Amino acid sequence: MRFVKLIVSVLIIIQARFVGLKASLFFKKIMFINFQYDIKKDIQNYKIIAKAYSTSSPSWMLELYKKQFGDLLDEDALTFFINQIIQKDSLDFLHIIKEFKFKWYPIEGEYLSRCERIFDFKIPVSSITAYLTTNDKCSYSYMGGYFFVRANTNFPLKTIMHELLHFAMLTKFAEEFRNLDKKIAYHILESFTELLNLEFNDLLDTPDRRYFGHEKARDIIRKEWRTNKDINLLFVKVRDLFLSENQ
Ligand SMILES: [Zn+2]
Repeated sequence: MRFVKLIVSVLIIIQARFVGLKASLFFKKIMFINFQYDIKKDIQNYKIIAKAYSTSSPSWMLELYKKQFGDLLDEDALTFFINQIIQKDSLDFLHIIKEFKFKWYPIEGEYLSRCERIFDFKIPVSSITAYLTTNDKCSYSYMGGYFFVRANTNFPLKTIMHELLHFAMLTKFAEEFRNLDKKIAYHILESFTELLNLEFNDLLDTPDRRYFGHEKARDIIRKEWRTNKDINLLFVKVRDLFLSENQ
């Protein structure tokens, strides 16, 4: 009887360990994105957006700032401007972060699994920070491991998935991107988010819209992906399209 009890308790310990291990793996997965607000980072987003090459519409928050303070992106002026927006829009960042977590965490695991399947790699379990921003445009830093999400948005999921898709592309094709012109890289990255509309439609809160100049590439991605889901082949096709257009 004592022996049976011993066996049972050993089994319980093994099972508890196993469940604990699974839980910690799951925990890591659902904690992949960290949400934060930091005014210094918000200011950085304004500065990056002001310099970035883009074929999408200009940032109207930046236009608003320039109307008030001129073209110079001064730290104090930006702090004043951002605090003004926070007050005017009654932005409660803690509450917004809670809402974003509520929307994103239930689908995070599914999103990552689909990415792993599409790109045929294991996503490294290291967290990425999503900083809230008062700007209407969102930049990202692949090397820094963070991106921005507009605080005042009804569609945070699209931004999160869009930026993470850039991260997945930059990981998968790191070597190729190293040898590419920055503008070509931009066009490729902004075209490939068409995959969100094809593979993540049920998880999106709004479709991923095309920027100017990416119509043809997105058409190719849509057509090719329906018949052959080969990300490597498609990368070469889209890259070659932009390279030939750039000649
Ligand atoms: Zn983008």
